[in-house]
Amino acid sequence: MKYSRPASKKALSFLVILLLTAGCNLFSTTPVPGNTPVAVATNIPLLATVVLPPTTAPPATATQSLPPPPSITPLIKEAPSATPLPTTPTAIIPSATAAPLTFDSQRALEHIRMLAQEIGPRPAGTEPGHKATAYLVDQLQSYGLKVEQQEFTVPTFQDKGTTITLPGTPARNLDGGPLSYSPSVDIDAPVIEVPGVGSPDDYQRVDVKGKIALVSRGELPFRDKAQNARNAGAAVLLIYNNAPEVFNGTLAGPGPLPSLAISGKEGGILKSALRQGAVKLHITSTTVVEQRTATNVIATRPGQSANGQAAGQTIVLGAHYDSVDAAPGANDNGSGTATLLELARVLAHNAPGPNTLVFVAFDGEELGLLGSKHYVSQLSKEDTGQMQVMLNFDMFASGNTPLLLVGNPNLTDAAQKFVVGVPVKANSSDLSGASSDYAPFKEVGVPVLSIHRDYQYIHTPQDTLDRINPDLLAQVGNLALDMLKRYDFKKATG
Ligand SMILES: [Zn+2]
Repeated sequence: MKYSRPASKKALSFLVILLLTAGCNLFSTTPVPGNTPVAVATNIPLLATVVLPPTTAPPATATQSLPPPPSITPLIKEAPSATPLPTTPTAIIPSATAAPLTFDSQRALEHIRMLAQEIGPRPAGTEPGHKATAYLVDQLQSYGLKVEQQEFTVPTFQDKGTTITLPGTPARNLDGGPLSYSPSVDIDAPVIEVPGVGSPDDYQRVDVKGKIALVSRGELPFRDKAQNARNAGAAVLLIYNNAPEVFNGTLAGPGPLPSLAISGKEGGILKSALRQGAVKLHITSTTVVEQRTATNVIATRPGQSANGQAAGQTIVLGAHYDSVDAAPGANDNGSGTATLLELARVLAHNAPGPNTLVFVAFDGEELGLLGSKHYVSQLSKEDTGQMQVMLNFDMFASGNTPLLLVGNPNLTDAAQKFVVGVPVKANSSDLSGASSDYAPFKEVGVPVLSIHRDYQYIHTPQDTLDRINPDLLAQVGNLALDMLKRYDFKKATG
């Protein structure tokens, strides 16, 4: 999930947070006042690897509370970064074939440890991203599934160093930085305050040609603000937050103009200085925008009718495995990826019914659903016509807030019946103003069911393994298994 981040207030208003993926960063939303952080009550701090119980041990079901994790023996004697990672990190998972047909949350937890701790932050197109790809391929192949790697290119962004300096004695660097995909710039220029939110009309009243346009955050997507500033002849766009903190955002692709973000506090200082007289800034920003290769990992378990003939339709199970560069992504979206892997292991050998199951680990979701958009763009009408449902798993294994079920109403209603006793937030056909990898499928008419939970540590360095609650992994894993076993998606979606 992707969003701009002024302090923690934003993190709480999850539904607002869900302005994710391409959503939020495009829109300079106003932070929600007055929310206070929710303590994550059910953490199980895990500092090292869990030694998995023998597969015969019946793992807990959703309704039973999980036995406390077995004694934890540190696996890695020295800091993981000290020992160079093998190209494919080796997980401690006994062979899949012997496993009974149940979801094992400790196995899922081990996948999260590998992704969030051994590999760490894994933006699409980066080296850690490629390591995560290799790990997923390795795991899915070890379950005996046919695995395909679907490559596509993504624009990646790196800030190689940026300063926004207010000359004076002493000169001072302002609290801020480039929006993602902002091109490099090195300039000394006057600052002009643009009224309003930087709409084309707002530029009628000021002359920003060759200067730095100072614009308030709000209403317009960042990319539109940059285009308007460029059209007005500005050399740089400087957006100040409408909250005291600094924020980060994206131009969602190579930008039309160098565009930087500063905190609301710095914005206020500049505006009052401008009321005293002219103000100049020295901005140096070196950034790299590159097209890089990202990979959707696709594992297929073909359907089979009673007479052994290929039959039935297709059920897609999906989760994105990339993270933002600031976060280890244990919950966003280690939880969804691990659940997808564990479901693939269980269903690879014991899949109910004739339908073909396709497990897709999407890349590039944090860059704007790029992996799921690419995947759907490669499908024919016949392919999508064959799809009974797309089940999407994205960030649900931490915290104690209600389960969020999103998608086709009859599917969200049905799903609710499978999670008796679990607080569920009102079903909705869509995330308000936000999205996740179900959206490209929904756009082409495939019925979808997407599972989430709000999370205060989204996109932060605090999105770590110790915040994961294995009970919530089992809860969602068993929800999916039960629906696949007992729910006729075909009848439901007609
Ligand atoms: Zn996510």
